[in-house]
Amino acid sequence: MRIPAEPKVIIRHCDEYDAARIRVIAREALEALELAPFGRTLVKPNLVAAGPQFPFAHTRPEVTEGMLRALRDVGNDQMQELAVGERCGITVPTRVTFAESGFDAMLERVPGVKRYCFEEQQQLEIAYTHPERLRDYVFTPAPVAQADFFVNMPKFKAHPWTTVTFSMKNYIGIQDDRHRLIDHDHRLDDKIADLQHIIQPQLICIDGIIAGEGRMLTPKPRRLNLLVFGNSQVAFDAVCCHIIGVDPRSVGHIRLAEDRGFGTTDLSKIQLSGDVSLEEAKSRAEGFEVGLIRVEKYFEGTNITAYAGPPPEREHAEYCWGGCPGAIEEAIEILRQFDEQCDEKLPRMHVVFGDYQGPIDAQPGERVFFIGDCARWQGEIHGKPVQVESVYQHRDSKDPYTIKHDDVYAKLVSTIGKLQVRRVRDEPYMRLTGCPVSVAEQVMLLASVGAVKNPIFEPRNALSFNRGYLGWRLATAAKRLRGEAYQVKGPCQRGEAAPDVRDKTGS
Ligand code: SF4
Repeated sequence: MRIPAEPKVIIRHCDEYDAARIRVIAREALEALELAPFGRTLVKPNLVAAGPQFPFAHTRPEVTEGMLRALRDVGNDQMQELAVGERCGITVPTRVTFAESGFDAMLERVPGVKRYCFEEQQQLEIAYTHPERLRDYVFTPAPVAQADFFVNMPKFKAHPWTTVTFSMKNYIGIQDDRHRLIDHDHRLDDKIADLQHIIQPQLICIDGIIAGEGRMLTPKPRRLNLLVFGNSQVAFDAVCCHIIGVDPRSVGHIRLAEDRGFGTTDLSKIQLSGDVSLEEAKSRAEGFEVGLIRVEKYFEGTNITAYAGPPPEREHAEYCWGGCPGAIEEAIEILRQFDEQCDEKLPRMHVVFGDYQGPIDAQPGERVFFIGDCARWQGEIHGKPVQVESVYQHRDSKDPYTIKHDDVYAKLVSTIGKLQVRRVRDEPYMRLTGCPVSVAEQVMLLASVGAVKNPIFEPRNALSFNRGYLGWRLATAAKRLRGEAYQVKGPCQRGEAAPDVRDKTGS
């Protein structure tokens, strides 16, 4: 598939999560874009997190139901398979978010649609050949690599690491955890731009009926009453940026993707249509709060004082927008959802990121945490000299083929264990390694330090989490017993997928 020379974006009014109404709107969009699904048709929603604490984080099932029914209306005869696939976030098994988001119930209403939890699927190697690539190859689940007709269905949200999460950012969910976390650091925008080379969607539909402001996992709901459709990711994201008053080229991954030929941000080259004008959409989103707040500012007025120095590769970034500092912002918001007294329970503490070279104002009894491999600092804490060295390893040392999966329970035990050791030894500080130290790990850290309710131990969550975790592990174990390799490396072993993929990106 080539990038459309004349990108089209359709802005539609929709003020209800009514699957029947959305089906009509989606069918009209398919007809206006002259699209009909065929072959292996895969729909990729954003199910980064779901459940009572995350009601506005994900694409709503009613929107996806409307789209699935519209796809059937338009191209049922031509589809060999119709599927919905996702890898959710924060190390939760995707089985859990499919259930908690209402997607499982929705899929029962639309029989015959396959469900893919991407972390349970075979991962296929995709070679990158573009000159700007961070690495030479990556892995993506087979259903993504082999999709003939790809429908990207993001949620309209702000994002604390990348300003916004529209269509291109939704691609973080086309990798399992071990691959998703590689390069999820100060080069996150580059990683997202690289992921565009795996596959391009024929159709994009964003759920902007109730959009999410300010944050990504726990956004504030903002009613826009919009569904936006398009056939080109860069053009689509550019229009969504304009709706909320953001210059699309100020968003790193959009600018990089445009520079690599994935489409245009130039509004004069984008065909806009629909029953809502861009001006009307803008007025609905006036004052929309985006993310992108530095960690020092984010924690002002709380018991946490944050300090951030630059990450490695300073020529690329003065601040690690895609890694540990943003992860702790999401971590505290998750804990606030589960424990109303979270902020009062957390003791005075200090968190340090990157190559920080200023003072740390830790009073006796206040804890200091250096977070991330690249944390580096020298000075005195509680009157004792402290030297923290960076243990950062360049990305070239991480091979997507051999990188290990960090089990969530192993992380939990390790984090609590380190905290106990530190207490017993009465050390003035603690070091958490990783690049990045994920949202899940930082949730565990903060929950352990402050005796805040840990979402993993919350009874309702524990039950569904453990059920989902066991289902995931049993599914992958069964595949191993059948002799199916989890990761398939090398072009000669990838079947027919790789040439298709390269053709689709036009690269
Ligand atoms: S260790 Fe954390 S802060 Fe440092 S580069 Fe990696 S993700 Fe960024």
